[in-house]
Amino acid sequence: MHELTICEALLDRIAQEQEARRFAHVKRVRLEIGQFSCLEPEALQYAFEIMARGTFLEHTALEIDRPRGRAICLDCGAEVEVESRQDDCPACGKGRLKPTGGDGMRFIEMEVA
Ligand SMILES: [Zn+2]
Repeated sequence: MHELTICEALLDRIAQEQEARRFAHVKRVRLEIGQFSCLEPEALQYAFEIMARGTFLEHTALEIDRPRGRAICLDCGAEVEVESRQDDCPACGKGRLKPTGGDGMRFIEMEVA
């Protein structure tokens, strides 16, 4: 499961921050996973729950935003936002969209205590 690898990287990153900043625990971690991404937020949520168990992240809430994907239309040149790579261009109705964003995961912020 791809989400496990992603989750591991996420926990590593938080652990590094903790070493540098010495906070006792993390209330909330906020991420975004673009709607073009093949990552499943539910699976990541689940992986986080399992992997955080017994660590200082055990009671941390993981919040995942789902920004719409951004693409440029190869037919009319419009820059558009769509929910799926399979959508047609909302401007001209044709279907040759080239994704320009919203296809990855991004760490937004975390609240520490
Ligand atoms: Zn178009």
